[in-house]
Amino acid sequence: MSVARTALLKISDNQWLRANGTRLPFVRRAVSKFMPGESYDDMIAAATATAATGIQALFTRLGENVRDLAEAEAVAHHYLEVIDRIRALGLSCEPSIKLTQLGLDINRELAYGHLRALAGRAQAAGSYLWIDMEQSSYVDVTLDLTRRLQQEFPAVGVCLQAYLFRSRQDLEDVTSRGIGVRLVKGAYNEPPAVAFPKKSDVDANYLALSQAMLSAGPRAAGSRAVFGTHDLDLIGAIRGHAQSIGLKPAEYEFHMLYGIQKAAQLRLAREGAAVRVLIAYGEYWFPWYMRRLAERPANVWFVAKSLFG
Ligand SMILES: Cc1cc2nc3c(=O)[nH]c(=O)nc-3n(C[C@H](O)[C@H](O)[C@H](O)COP(=O)(O)OP(=O)(O)OC[C@H]3O[C@@H](n4cnc5c(N)ncnc54)[C@H](O)[C@@H]3O)c2cc1C
Repeated sequence: MSVARTALLKISDNQWLRANGTRLPFVRRAVSKFMPGESYDDMIAAATATAATGIQALFTRLGENVRDLAEAEAVAHHYLEVIDRIRALGLSCEPSIKLTQLGLDINRELAYGHLRALAGRAQAAGSYLWIDMEQSSYVDVTLDLTRRLQQEFPAVGVCLQAYLFRSRQDLEDVTSRGIGVRLVKGAYNEPPAVAFPKKSDVDANYLALSQAMLSAGPRAAGSRAVFGTHDLDLIGAIRGHAQSIGLKPAEYEFHMLYGIQKAAQLRLAREGAAVRVLIAYGEYWFPWYMRRLAERPANVWFVAKSLFG
């Protein structure tokens, strides 16, 4: 892992910066590249605009490691309201949520209660519900709660990270149950005991796991195959493999982050690929934004330029 990536991921965990980083004016200017704004209205406007280009959306209100009962409750309430409003607008815009934002660090059953309420509301709105994957210490509990939830609400998917050694086994288990998978490379600072340290190994594992997702078993079980990546070489390889085994472009999807590889998003959509863009909003964006910088340390130059207006 590069020194810059490790440093940026360490900064993302710094408690003082998590609380105060969003007040730094030059950081606020730079983050606008990755999020349309802090408010719900900003997210809706962006989702409406991308829908007009043939790209549907997902949404997430930024926040993680909520340790206050009332705050976890407020987050859940916010998501319920947004699901209802999106339904009223007739937009296809799926929620993507972090369990630690629903109070997982306080109490597992409390977080599950909120999750269950969101899944029920999403199901009523005809929407899928996505569960993000956080640090490796949360993988077991995230998968346990996802499996439990899916027994009651089938339209549920979870993120798996190609940098983790365990993901191949998790993928087999989750897809055999018909749970959807959004495969990503992984955004956190993980030790070599649990994750591939070399990017080339992560990329190779991503490709191998993507082929497993497109194989007959997961598809027969009804698992939705989603590739959350901006890596155009991988996307090309996945499309090539899918075509070689006779899959149609509508049988798998690419999800990307708002503001990243926009030209490629549009090109893929024009070519008939199923593309969604994840739109983040909210005030608590500092750790999330540091992870975006860590993915491409060259972005730090963009922040530096913003420092000078
Ligand atoms: C829809 C979606 C949901 C995600 N959910 C999770 C999650 O729940 N848990 C988790 O751990 N991770 C999540 N991630 C993040 C993911 O793990 C990676 O950190 C991120 O996608 C970057 O990896 P990449 O596959 O794009 O490949 P990379 O090899 O990192 O990037 C490929 C190319 O894409 C471009 N690019 C990538 N990132 C950036 C950036 N930040 N700024 C500018 N250009 C960039 C660059 O041109 C780069 O060369 C999610 C990603 C997406 C797209």
